[in-house]
Amino acid sequence: MFVKGLKCRECGKEYPDSPLYVCDYCFGPLEVDYDYDGIKKQISIDKIKSREPNMWRYRELLPIKGEIKIGKNVGYTPLVKADNLAKELGVKELYIKNDAVNFPTLSFKDRVVSVAIAKAKEFGFKVVACASTGNLANAVAALAASASYESFVFIPSNLEIGKVLGTSIYDTNLVKINGSYDKVNRLCTEIAGKHNWGFVNINLRPYYAEGSKSLTFEILEQLGFKTPDNVVVPMAGGSLITKVGKAIDEFEYCGLLQGKPKTKIFGAQATGCNPITATVKEKREFIKPVKTPNTIAKSLAIGNPADGYYASDLMSKTGGYGEDATDDEIIEGMKLLAGTEGIFTETAGGVTVAVAKKLIDKGYINKNETTVLAITGNGLKTLEAINGKLKEPATIDANLEEFERVLAKIREGN
Ligand SMILES: *Cc1c(COP(=O)(O)O)cnc(C)c1O
Ligand SMILES: [Zn+2]
Repeated sequence: MFVKGLKCRECGKEYPDSPLYVCDYCFGPLEVDYDYDGIKKQISIDKIKSREPNMWRYRELLPIKGEIKIGKNVGYTPLVKADNLAKELGVKELYIKNDAVNFPTLSFKDRVVSVAIAKAKEFGFKVVACASTGNLANAVAALAASASYESFVFIPSNLEIGKVLGTSIYDTNLVKINGSYDKVNRLCTEIAGKHNWGFVNINLRPYYAEGSKSLTFEILEQLGFKTPDNVVVPMAGGSLITKVGKAIDEFEYCGLLQGKPKTKIFGAQATGCNPITATVKEKREFIKPVKTPNTIAKSLAIGNPADGYYASDLMSKTGGYGEDATDDEIIEGMKLLAGTEGIFTETAGGVTVAVAKKLIDKGYINKNETTVLAITGNGLKTLEAINGKLKEPATIDANLEEFERVLAKIREGN
């Protein structure tokens, strides 16, 4: 393992490899720091390619000691060349990174939780827990079950049934909290201070965040160790997007990339909860929290995003931008992706597609460049959002004349 310890993003103060997340000197967030020169000597394209197709093929750049036992099969999801959607949006080259089919709980959160629970084990925690907008709940409950870990999962009480039952099935301790995610998170911070539990996105957050780098490592490998011109990433707390930047920098430093990295990083949110994209659009230096998020993209509904400032800074620095989508646009985005590429994403993916369309139409994304859309969750988990919004199926008795009548109607309709 090449972890040197944790390091404050703001003042650079160093801390040991331990369950800490905030600098006691300046209150800045802590980040995992590695011996990059050691990694550079060890890692190579051939070595990566010789390994199993999962997120651990980049293990030198992940903060785990010893043998991988938790979340062994997570990652290495398809990078789909989306020619139909490209044509629809009027761009030359477009790819979908499809974490809607990530193993085991069909969202990118399986990546972050694998790392966080492995670290919880290293640190000797007996219980793992999380504050979640839905997908994290599924991933913590499932991966804790497979690692024989007791888990506590805290969610806002208004989540979709797929996210709720898709958590309870793993026999976790699920607690619904009246109020928004930000209230859930505040309570969990208090609980983490009282009980000695490993909260994957609180006291284990620096390690959790490292897991999301694997999504970008995979994109780079799947493009032949080349960087795309543009990436569009959905944002909740803003952790995933900041690690897109870190992952590209690490591959570059380790000499794994062809050519100079040039990726412009774009962030996507729902208009009903857009604290980060509003910061970018208004060219502000600080985040104004959204007090009462109101969107069907519940998995992204974090009003006070922990990494919001860094996310907005990264978009500006790389020449990217932030944009948001209304609920109607989100549903159109989900339908567009399904209808062109046969990929059923949840509301967060609808946000990404809708925002990509806007960025292309407004010229922020160049039509002649290569673009990757990060599709991070599965549509079967947010059925409420589309229920009643799609073409109704015909219901008929089982006889041929009835079907012919329906067929004639369908043909007339077109
Ligand atoms: C959690 C989540 C994200 C991004 O979350 P960050 O907090 O910004 O890292 C994106 N898409 C889906 C579906 C998610 O569940
Ligand atoms: Zn500090």
